[in-house]
Amino acid sequence: MDHRQIEELYNRYLIPVYNRNGIFVARARGSWVWDNQGRRYLDFFPGWGVAALGHCHPQVILATVRQLKKLIHVPNTFYHEPQAKLAEALVKASFPGKVFFTNSGAESVEAAIKLARYWGRPRRHEIITMTGSFHGRTMGALAATGQAKYSEGFGPKLAGFRHVPFNRIEAVQQAIRKETVAVMVEPVQGEGGIHVADASFLKALGRLCSRKNLLFILDEVSTSMGRTGTLFAFQRYGTVPDILLLAKPVGGGLPMGAMIAHRRIADTWKKSSHATTFGGHPVMMAAGYAALQAIRREGILVNVKRQSRYLLGELQALKKRSPVIREVRGVGLMIGLELMQPGAPVVTEAAKRGLLINCTQEKVLRLYPALNIKRSEVELGLERLEAALRAVQ
Ligand SMILES: *Cc1c(COP(=O)(O)O)cnc(C)c1O
Repeated sequence: MDHRQIEELYNRYLIPVYNRNGIFVARARGSWVWDNQGRRYLDFFPGWGVAALGHCHPQVILATVRQLKKLIHVPNTFYHEPQAKLAEALVKASFPGKVFFTNSGAESVEAAIKLARYWGRPRRHEIITMTGSFHGRTMGALAATGQAKYSEGFGPKLAGFRHVPFNRIEAVQQAIRKETVAVMVEPVQGEGGIHVADASFLKALGRLCSRKNLLFILDEVSTSMGRTGTLFAFQRYGTVPDILLLAKPVGGGLPMGAMIAHRRIADTWKKSSHATTFGGHPVMMAAGYAALQAIRREGILVNVKRQSRYLLGELQALKKRSPVIREVRGVGLMIGLELMQPGAPVVTEAAKRGLLINCTQEKVLRLYPALNIKRSEVELGLERLEAALRAVQ
């Protein structure tokens, strides 16, 4: 099919909720994407953070294909090895807890909302979240999200959430009431424009939650699996959540998510308190396990730190040369460039030069390169980015 035919089918048969960039992707490998005309793009935003190991990681492919041939799906009325193995690996890598597997970030958030409410019943149900946060598009996740634009037209909103300014511990303290059961926060607000939590804020939040008997929920849907330089972002901060939420990169590119709850909370639910048909799917579990192994075997965390130092340094230097950059923010390979002007034209100019990036909050360019990106690829990306910035100023 040529691209005109594909586009016509999209226009006729797909509900038009997505902004599409006009690129027809044929295949991808590592940090590179090829379109259907053979043009090659360097991907600095692979899969919106899903392809943390780059596209089509060979170990993920191998594990997935092996599992596909053995067993594709059985529901959670059965036991199977891949689910047991990944649950153990995730708990051993995080904190003493138990796992509930989901299929997406929003579902991990929903699971946490339900677990917190169940744990706090009958008197406590309210969850404090941050302004500028993003927790997903389902009704509970929307209510948790601290940005009004996502809820427009979808009322009435699920009750039981209070939003407070990010990085302000006094604001959280003041918002606590007798109904409060939990506080949920992202270690780095990604969609919100790359705002990094202060270490002092997250530490104080952990202490506050334990003092007030509140659940401390970390939404690490985009910060986990090495993105910030440690396997989970909380490990940078010397604090441990009661509930940890995962998705995007955790399946090595395949769709899955997880909620890990501390042991003393995990057994709150009774049989059938919560469920999802695809959760813990054997193929996703095999992919997730392979991804976790690859992160360890390939020294990914060391590479994140190394490339991050170089990339952030070069971007600060670029800021001095480029009057359109207002600020460079980020941690690990989760980086934002706030511009003086809208970022969409830069995204377009970058794509013309063979570089894929993203823009959020109108003016913030987002760079989430693959965690195994090479120095030469970072250099090439920087060149193309600078050229794209020059084209708009
Ligand atoms: C992307 C994201 C979500 C939602 O995940 P989906 O898989 O799109 O439902 C939730 N929280 C954070 C922090 C995210 O980045």
